[in-house]
Amino acid sequence: MTVKGKTAVITGSNSGIGLGVARELAKAGAHVVLNSFTDRDEDHKIAAEIANEFSVDARYIKADMSKGDECRALIEKSGACDILINNAGIQHVAPIDEFPAEKWDAIIAINMSSAFHTTAAALPVMRAAGWGRIINIASAHGLTASPFKSAYVAAKHGVVGMTKAVALETAQEPITCNAICPGYVLTPLVEAQIPDTMEKYNMGREEVIKTVMLERQPSREFATVEQLGGTAVFLASDAAAQITGTTLSVDGGWTAL
Ligand code: NAD
Repeated sequence: MTVKGKTAVITGSNSGIGLGVARELAKAGAHVVLNSFTDRDEDHKIAAEIANEFSVDARYIKADMSKGDECRALIEKSGACDILINNAGIQHVAPIDEFPAEKWDAIIAINMSSAFHTTAAALPVMRAAGWGRIINIASAHGLTASPFKSAYVAAKHGVVGMTKAVALETAQEPITCNAICPGYVLTPLVEAQIPDTMEKYNMGREEVIKTVMLERQPSREFATVEQLGGTAVFLASDAAAQITGTTLSVDGGWTAL
């Protein structure tokens, strides 16, 4: 794996998959730029701990991925950007005829349009460096659908489509663009869906996990953030130089069904 010394910018990386990906990239020797919209002391502390644990440069930059100018500023402030991980994402669950329009707009902005802005800003930096990797964290919902997640499904299908278009635009350059499509991973985003689902189906927590969530995932196990991070390290490595425009599912067989 050859990410040593590269700089990775990971959007939405103060928790969950983004943090797992940042940690695995740092473990493999990459310098990392962490991001979220929060700017808490804790965010800077997480970056300092990564720097200390893996002996790489690690810093935190605040930027709100719902705002195009802040997405572009994140890349500018990062300086180098050899590896771009578009990971920031939110979720809202509601029937489409009751879906709040502001939630729809926020999901499209954070989950999809942010990747447009960061990619547009990062490509000239990658071209100047003569090497680049763009990795979009899409979802099994970028390839399939679930009811009541229309905005999320639309945004993730959009990310998968954009991944292919960018891969074709950069196909003859030393730059690749791929999407990782996770199934269920037990992160704060998924935890937040559990109480409503328990109420809706009058079930306990374990029953929701078993019969509503993991029923969809043939392995009947959550993927881990470390496994997602390892997948990103592989796609960023030279071993994956000819892999571009593809979606790599890490979903315990969900999309094989
Ligand atoms: P999470 O809630 O732990 O992480 C989401 C991250 O996005 C956080 O770091 C949060 O601070 C950040 N974020 C949210 N709004 C932001 C904004 N406006 N600006 C900047 N950062 C913002 O959830 P997660 O599960 O780790 O999700 C990470 C990505 O993985 C998302 O794109 C999600 O859609 C995708 N995903 C998750 C699962 C899963 O089962 N957990 C499955 C498929 C895809």
